[in-house]
Amino acid sequence: MKTFIIYLPDKKSVIRLFLVVILSFFVLVSPGQIKTNDDSSHVNPPFIKVTLLGTGTPQPIMDRFGPSTLVQAGSEALLFDAGRGCLQRLKQVGLPYDKLNALFLTHLHSDHIVGIPDLWLTGWLVSKRTLPLNIYGPEGTAEMIRNLQKAFAFDIKMRIEDDKAMEEGSRLSVNEIQEGTIYEKNGVRVIAFRVDHYPVVPAFGYRIEYMGHSVVLSGDTRYSENLIRFAKGTDLLIHEVVIAPDTLGKSDPKYNIWAHHTTAEQAGKTFNEVKPKLAAYSHISKLYGRDEQELLRRSKANYAGPVIIGEDLMCFSILDTVSVNLWKTNK
Ligand SMILES: [Zn+2]
Ligand SMILES: [Zn+2]
Repeated sequence: MKTFIIYLPDKKSVIRLFLVVILSFFVLVSPGQIKTNDDSSHVNPPFIKVTLLGTGTPQPIMDRFGPSTLVQAGSEALLFDAGRGCLQRLKQVGLPYDKLNALFLTHLHSDHIVGIPDLWLTGWLVSKRTLPLNIYGPEGTAEMIRNLQKAFAFDIKMRIEDDKAMEEGSRLSVNEIQEGTIYEKNGVRVIAFRVDHYPVVPAFGYRIEYMGHSVVLSGDTRYSENLIRFAKGTDLLIHEVVIAPDTLGKSDPKYNIWAHHTTAEQAGKTFNEVKPKLAAYSHISKLYGRDEQELLRRSKANYAGPVIIGEDLMCFSILDTVSVNLWKTNK
């Protein structure tokens, strides 16, 4: 059973609900109309397909892996952040490492990069990749990658000599980025923009454009006017969020987690400015047992449009509408 929810812009919620029912039925009876999680590396134009590989935080939990998002458009398969378990998630969606065109990092907090060694080394070994992987990231990325290459030098040598892996496929090519267009290939443009994750500087969000459509990924950020500027008019906004009790004070050990991220009310304000066709939460920090219903309720205090809570392997198809495919109901 596939479950599709289809969002249209600027419609009253009653009309939207009606269309959801009608269009969901249409999709259910016409499964070939929209690509789902079952397909692999190539997305037929003019779709942008976005898959949340990991929607979690540093917490080591099984249902939300580390932050990582796959964006596929035409022949391009681009990975944004490489949190814990991203290689397993890529396997689940049927995209081998050798089909990955590039990796983009939002910032260098460990939850966003700790999956790199597994993605890179296991990916190279099992997919038989023969080309270097291009990595785009903030200042400091080159040093981090250089140190990883040093740390795994023994394994790389053994894989080449003993497993006959292609040396070229073990290479990582790093590009440290500034704000602006950083990648343009096969009709896909990636624009990096600065967000506010102080004291983590620089930290970036990304806007990915393809054939007149786009998705924006917030990365880790507080409420950011610059994000709003770059996200305006996007089809899909994937945004981070933190929720905590109102009583959380400055002396609380978790205060800085709250202070370095975007609250539900601030996210609602951001969505209200950006006006995406659909907003979705990923990298969801729920402090002291706050629940997801409260997260949605607080978001809606400032935003009347569609917003959903992302799940691992939730997949979005962007065309003139944005449709959502829930992984669990697809199996
Ligand atoms: Zn961070
Ligand atoms: Zn993070």
